[in-house]
Amino acid sequence: MTLDAAELARLDRAHIIHPYLPGSATERIVMTEGAGCRLTDTEGRSYLDATGGLWLAQVGHGRTDLADVAHEQMKKLEYFTSFWDFSNDRAIELAARLAELAPDPLNHVYYTSGGSEGVEAAIKMARYYHHRRGEGSRTWILARSKAYHGVGYGGSSAAGFPLYQEGFAPMVPHVSHLTPPWPYRSELYDGQDPTDFLIRELEERIAEIGPENIAAMVGEPIMGVGGMLVPPADYWPRVREVLDRHGILLIFDEVVTAYGRVGEWFAAQYFETTPDIIVTAKGITSGYVPLGALLVGDHVAEALLREQGFPMGYTYNGHPVATAVALANLDVIEKEGLLARATTIGSFLHAELQSQLGELDVVGEVRSVGMMLAVELVADKATREPLPLDPERMPHDVIRRESGVIVRDSAHSLVLSPPLIMTEAEAKEAASALRSVLERTEPNGRIREA
Ligand code: PMP
Repeated sequence: MTLDAAELARLDRAHIIHPYLPGSATERIVMTEGAGCRLTDTEGRSYLDATGGLWLAQVGHGRTDLADVAHEQMKKLEYFTSFWDFSNDRAIELAARLAELAPDPLNHVYYTSGGSEGVEAAIKMARYYHHRRGEGSRTWILARSKAYHGVGYGGSSAAGFPLYQEGFAPMVPHVSHLTPPWPYRSELYDGQDPTDFLIRELEERIAEIGPENIAAMVGEPIMGVGGMLVPPADYWPRVREVLDRHGILLIFDEVVTAYGRVGEWFAAQYFETTPDIIVTAKGITSGYVPLGALLVGDHVAEALLREQGFPMGYTYNGHPVATAVALANLDVIEKEGLLARATTIGSFLHAELQSQLGELDVVGEVRSVGMMLAVELVADKATREPLPLDPERMPHDVIRRESGVIVRDSAHSLVLSPPLIMTEAEAKEAASALRSVLERTEPNGRIREA
């Protein structure tokens, strides 16, 4: 069945419920091909993918080497369960590789098919760890405003945006939200040093709830959906120190930050902070097939593996095709030097954005770590008041329509997380596309016609 562009769009409107798309929206961008940082749609239009899909296309689109690995593995063993004492060779090889890459003592791997499943598993692991150790009162989870942790009930409850909770209640109880680290918004910290403020708040919250009632704190090392919020360098080491003093586990949600995006295998290494559990997904396969993996500390694994073991498992736990593709994807990241490349091309893209956009009235700040970048939009540079946005004509939509460059809107910031293989020419193209629209954007959010 070969359908033309109009028919595909019609069938899409008739049958697919898209996340975050109102039924009244008629436009569809139907992608058919990808190669490197480029995508092509059914109309033959070409796009520059500056978001790496949903922040995951580390090695770029259209790599036949990864396709060949999936093909070979499917012919050999497409699936068997990893429950009980069953396992498969690919899942074992990948687990050993991840244990090698991760900071010590994160030597144990628990597989999922994505980030949301991973966050649910991590929250359950944290509570169960304390339960197994005879501290069943430790049920509270500390999270932060502006956090995003996927769409399960645990992750939605930990999320720091009302959008993920309104209409879905009742949420998971015993979740408490702290202030996010967002140095640009110094007004959040009452004129104090941001880390001092945040650490005091953390200590006070632990005292209020009682350390004996708290299982874990969960956080993205750099908050992605919140707008690429980069904490001060001393934030995570000091949080770790406080949590350690109170026997509270630290869960890093590295669904976006792992596998090269910040120039290291894990942001834990970038921030020199070792959590008890790291949740990963996305970049583990660069999106070629769905997979997620939790990296779990020896001490946590020891408690989970007592008695009958850890009583939760996903059908696709340790899927042979997904783990085979992940191994090949990690090989590409390693052989092509993409960790170092994330830092060099990320700095280049940052410098381009800074020089092309920095002086514009509506640009408050350009910030980045590696290939996670954000341009924060303001109505007024001095007061840092957020730019009002017209939902009918958002900057990222106009950028895509006019130039074919795909960037994303995230809480009053334009965010970029391109494939790590992006070229300097493509980085310049992305920055120019942003400039062309932002230089026509007025402080009231209106974008003048070109
Ligand atoms: N955690 C974070 C920090 C994420 O950014 C995301 C996805 N954007 C998730 C969890 C959820 O991952 P998934 O969509 O694969 O379920």
